[in-house]
Amino acid sequence: MPEMEKKDQEKLSFDVIVVGAGLAGGTAALMAARAGLNVALIERGQTPGGKNYFGGTVYTHAMEEIFPDFWTRMPPLERPATEAGYWFLSETGLTRIMVGGGELSRTPADAYIGLMAKFANWWITQAQAEGVFLIPKTLVVDFIRDSAGRIIGVKTDRPEGDVYAPVTIICEGVNNLLTQKAGLIDHDVKPERVALVVKQLISLPTETINARFGLPDAEHGLAVSVMGDISLGLTGLGFIYTGKDNVSIGVGVDLDVLDNHHVRPYDLMQHFLKHPQIAPLIAGGQMLEYGGHLIPEGGWSQMPKLYADGVLVAGDAAAMVNALHWEGTNMAIIAGKMAGEAAVEAHKRKDFSAGSLKVYEDKLKDTFILKDLKQYRNFSKFLINHEDFMSVYPTFLNEALGKFFSGFGKPKREVYKNILGSLTKRKPLLKAAGDILAFGRSILGR
Ligand SMILES: Cc1cc2nc3c(=O)[nH]c(=O)nc-3n(C[C@H](O)[C@H](O)[C@H](O)COP(=O)(O)OP(=O)(O)OC[C@H]3O[C@@H](n4cnc5c(N)ncnc54)[C@H](O)[C@@H]3O)c2cc1C
Repeated sequence: MPEMEKKDQEKLSFDVIVVGAGLAGGTAALMAARAGLNVALIERGQTPGGKNYFGGTVYTHAMEEIFPDFWTRMPPLERPATEAGYWFLSETGLTRIMVGGGELSRTPADAYIGLMAKFANWWITQAQAEGVFLIPKTLVVDFIRDSAGRIIGVKTDRPEGDVYAPVTIICEGVNNLLTQKAGLIDHDVKPERVALVVKQLISLPTETINARFGLPDAEHGLAVSVMGDISLGLTGLGFIYTGKDNVSIGVGVDLDVLDNHHVRPYDLMQHFLKHPQIAPLIAGGQMLEYGGHLIPEGGWSQMPKLYADGVLVAGDAAAMVNALHWEGTNMAIIAGKMAGEAAVEAHKRKDFSAGSLKVYEDKLKDTFILKDLKQYRNFSKFLINHEDFMSVYPTFLNEALGKFFSGFGKPKREVYKNILGSLTKRKPLLKAAGDILAFGRSILGR
């Protein structure tokens, strides 16, 4: 190693640098610190969680894999997701396909509704308690490389802010600037492979939430994905999550679709909030937060290379999100764990080359992360090419079930003919069958 680099390493050096104190970064740092390594976790925000933005679900399997005693640690979660499903909106109607009880009534529940600003902050505090050194309010701007081009540290926006480590784990979230600088991917996040989600957090009394969403008490919560007349006919998904005394509600649409149709995110949100079936649910609520955030939706097709000499990437930065199931937090946690473990193994081998760090990808191949992302690789493309799933089918579903449950004294044969008619006036039967087949294929990975 050249003399200059040796001198620099004496300045501020760690065994591992992790960039980004979200769930991926927090977990990667924690795993390395737990194994006795010196870990710097660098975060641009004022506090961890300060830049993390969502109300949604976090998953018990992932949390317990990191903290087997998770539930004794009093995590700041809102409610268990005891009811989950899809709501399909037509212009005025609503069809719910919901499931509750059974699998969803286990304790602990499979998923909990949380507010990320609080939850990520708590998660990082747990990591700090196990020795992670958090460096907040610091932006990593580039990498330091040795004469052979291997990454041996990071440059930050602080004066004399270079930090050295033989391995850096990039957990920078959806904006993949560092992932590009590390040479792991050669392009920005593509507008057609990323959704802009606009979201509001609305405060309502606990009893009002329980009554309006049909929940017996605050130990029950609702996690819903919404399709249909929310995205102004564009390819997009909405969501509603009930917190203790708040409701997270939002809608996400691919960035390029918004751009091509000249739709403003604000208008999208207003359309959703004013829908006759949605407005009464949040009436009288006070808006606590309003904002937007990107979600990587490209999945498998947009994944960067996951490792190179001296560097690994995990979480949203590696497009690890299953868009259909809104699963990103569990992928961030488990991938973060595996990246942290790979860094520990590299230290044991004293080998930080790409060949040594490849163990990270090998581990991931055995998890649901790479298996699911590969299986769903065509799903986002499917949605782009089948906008009818956002408009025609939710409307048909509402109309068909409405007719089925209210015959108006007509003979049933006539009712069924009517139902079929309301589909075929919108879509030839063969085309509809083809669409359903294509949907099945896109989620089965065929
Ligand atoms: C509105 C919304 C709803 C969602 N709902 C769900 C849900 O219900 N269930 C679910 O599982 N997932 C959901 N997701 C996805 C989930 O939130 C993410 O997949 C997950 O939180 C990603 O974690 P991460 O650690 O990879 O990234 P982030 O949480 O984005 O963390 C990245 C961190 O890196 C920091 N950073 C970035 N660049 C730098 C730099 N150069 N220097 C220093 N720090 C930097 C950022 O400030 C940030 O703190 C949702 C996402 C959104 C936006």
